[in-house]
Amino acid sequence: MRINLFRIIVLSQLSACLSLYGQRSAVAVIGQSTDAKNDKTNVEALLELTDKTHRSAPAQAVEYAEQALEISRKLDNAELIARSQFALCSAHLDALNIQKSIEYGNLCEPFFEKSDNKERLANLYNALSASYFNIGDTKMTELYSDKCIRLAEEYGMQEVLNKQYYNRGAILYYRGDYSQSMDYAFKALNLAKKNDNPVYAAACYDLMGILSQRMQEDRNAIDYLERSRRIYAADKNYEMLGYNLSNIADAYRSLGLADSAFWYFRKSLDYFKSIESPHGISTAYSGLAKCHKEKADYDSAQIYIDKCLKMGLLSESQKDMALFYFEAGEISFLRKNFNDALNYLQKSLPMARQNGFKETEADVLLHLGQTYGVMGKSDSAYRCLIRSAALKDSLNKIDNVRQRAYLLAEHNVKEQVNREMETEQQKKVLWLVILGLCLAVILIMSIFIRTLSGRKNKIQSINAELERYKSDLENILKDKTRELVLSEQQIYNLSNNLPHGAIFRIAFKNEREGETLFVSSGWEELTGQPLETAADSVFFFQNKIHPDDSRELLHQLASSIRNRSGLDLVYRFYKNNTEMRWFHVRAVATADDNGLIYLDGYQVDETDQKYFEQELMAAKEKAEESDRLKSAFLANMSHEIRTPMNAIIGFSSLLSGGQLPAHRHAAYLELIQENCQYLLRLIDDIVDISKIEAEQLTFRSEDCRVADIMRGVKEYFDPIIQNKYPHVELWVDESSENTSLTIYTDVFRLKQIFLNLIENALKFTPKGFVRCGHTLDRADSVHFFVMDTGIGIAQEYAEAIFQSFRKVDQHSGGTGLGLSIVKKMLLQMGGAIWVESEPGVGSTFHFTVPLPSRN
Ligand code: ADP
Repeated sequence: MRINLFRIIVLSQLSACLSLYGQRSAVAVIGQSTDAKNDKTNVEALLELTDKTHRSAPAQAVEYAEQALEISRKLDNAELIARSQFALCSAHLDALNIQKSIEYGNLCEPFFEKSDNKERLANLYNALSASYFNIGDTKMTELYSDKCIRLAEEYGMQEVLNKQYYNRGAILYYRGDYSQSMDYAFKALNLAKKNDNPVYAAACYDLMGILSQRMQEDRNAIDYLERSRRIYAADKNYEMLGYNLSNIADAYRSLGLADSAFWYFRKSLDYFKSIESPHGISTAYSGLAKCHKEKADYDSAQIYIDKCLKMGLLSESQKDMALFYFEAGEISFLRKNFNDALNYLQKSLPMARQNGFKETEADVLLHLGQTYGVMGKSDSAYRCLIRSAALKDSLNKIDNVRQRAYLLAEHNVKEQVNREMETEQQKKVLWLVILGLCLAVILIMSIFIRTLSGRKNKIQSINAELERYKSDLENILKDKTRELVLSEQQIYNLSNNLPHGAIFRIAFKNEREGETLFVSSGWEELTGQPLETAADSVFFFQNKIHPDDSRELLHQLASSIRNRSGLDLVYRFYKNNTEMRWFHVRAVATADDNGLIYLDGYQVDETDQKYFEQELMAAKEKAEESDRLKSAFLANMSHEIRTPMNAIIGFSSLLSGGQLPAHRHAAYLELIQENCQYLLRLIDDIVDISKIEAEQLTFRSEDCRVADIMRGVKEYFDPIIQNKYPHVELWVDESSENTSLTIYTDVFRLKQIFLNLIENALKFTPKGFVRCGHTLDRADSVHFFVMDTGIGIAQEYAEAIFQSFRKVDQHSGGTGLGLSIVKKMLLQMGGAIWVESEPGVGSTFHFTVPLPSRN
């Protein structure tokens, strides 16, 4: 690396120096130089060609320079000869024919020293210094370098001085005096900056980078190399950019950053490939081989070193080939291909020796010795190792004065370094303590964070589980809510559609304090009260309850609340204050944990049912009564029929026996007739009532005068009274109101009515009178009456006696059908009948018969 670097930089600067001669269009000029007059021009052109080609094709450049020298000698032009010799010096330097370079340099030196062109002389010193350097002659190198510097300083040749400072730095670098080398590099850099020469500045940065790398300040190295890289990149100097990248890669390699090193070497390779620089390409391959070697990937290292050798041969660089073969030998040795190693090292050795690379030669001999040793060739190994050691010694030989100065300096430096190291050591200890503390803090923090993150994870997992539960619960809640809503809806519909009733829930604190929590809408229809009133107070309707039921309801309610028991009651309620309704309430009381008692129940209107029940009861009673009456009737009938029949049979038997005195015959026959009449009457009554109940009784209406009817009644009864009721008088008001009053009715039925009523009156009046008549107190009917002074009728029988078979005294004579027949006939005729009576005083039977309408 160091030799490569030096060569490149020196060549570039030489190139720059030569361009100062201002030779241009060399090829064009040579093409024009066809005669002797132009030989001088030809020399100039050849010199320019040398300048143009010495970097890319040093061998060609040598040829151009030799031609120039030849022509110059022919021309016998001292200046041209000297310049041609200088061109040969430079070209041979580039072609690494160092001895030749020195030889030509020495030849032109006297002429240049005499010449006024001090700049040219300075450049010669520079070239000779470089040449001596290349053969490892430190003394001569420094001699010419000093000369060059003095001259440049004396004549203010900034650029030459710049170049020389740089070269001096490079020389010191190769001598291993890195700190002095760095001083010169800085000087050179300052000059380059002052002269605004970025190319030199870049070269200085390159040198400083490599120096830093040697001083194990790899980060600084990379920093310097990056600076030069930017300059090369801006300058589009791809060749230098390639070398620069190789140097950066090498810095990364020594930092142990193999990946970065690989990347930079590959980048470097790309640039070299783009400009088709065989030397650059082989340099990059060599770097890649070294990277692989350090990664112990010897196979890959072998591949790259092979490529490197191939390209190195193309670059015609003997100097580099010595190095490449040396590296190839080293890699083969590591791959245990000792024969190959031997082969490569044996190729490298003469090249190194020929080019004066004493350090490389020593390294090659060392490796040769090792290889021979491994191969069991101990004599050869010994010889190589001895020579290597001798060479190393000679390389490190420094004259005594310098040695002493150096040792003294080294001693001072060492003391300084020791002091610094002590301070550094203390600092290190301090830093170590701080570092330790920091690590402890980081450790504690990381444990804390890990614990926290563990907890966080746990919390997160618990949260996730809770979320899952929450979502499950929400779903369940949704389902239940839906069910509840459905259920509520059903209950709502059910409660509100309850026919003639309402359900309710009342909360009681005690027997007296209650609040209606819910009552269904049927309440309004049920009670005729707005729904809100039910919610206001549970006792609001107390004053609407029938007084007979109110007490019982409150009693049951209190008992139910007290005993948490049921309530079941029918009570009467005044709907809209007037209409009495029957309500049936059923409820049950339960208590909650807070002591509140809930009365849940329903109330329905049972009025219709109640009335129906009452009717049913009445009908039942009536049926029972009727049954009882019928039984009584049958008993009566048998009695009523048997009595006259017995009389008829008895008297007729007496008559037919022939022993009865004659005067008794008439009386007995009369008795027989009388009983027959009675039987007939009884049968007529039964027939009549049967007809009436079968609705088969017909009326034959006709105009008849009321007076005539009354007279007929009187005529009918007079004889009967005389015979049967001598203690009773019968008064018939024949013309009491209007003698000419005529009514349109069934006379026979009307007389039958009078007959029944008057017979009863006579029958139940032991003494007094019976009176009958009529009045016209209404325009639409005639009012008849039959009054007696008999035994009278108790008020409770006033209605009942008009029912069939009903008698006040069931043992009294008679069928109990007469009044029933009378009432039914009058109803059919459009009239009515009622009785006014006082027991022991007498009775008056009133009845009306409608008058015919006037139209
Ligand atoms: P009866 O054939 O038994 O008389 P009625 O139907 O004519 O049947 O009379 C029914 C009952 O009414 C009688 O049994 C009697 O108790 C009572 N009654 C009817 N008329 C009179 C009256 N003028 N005074 C007292 N009681 C009477």
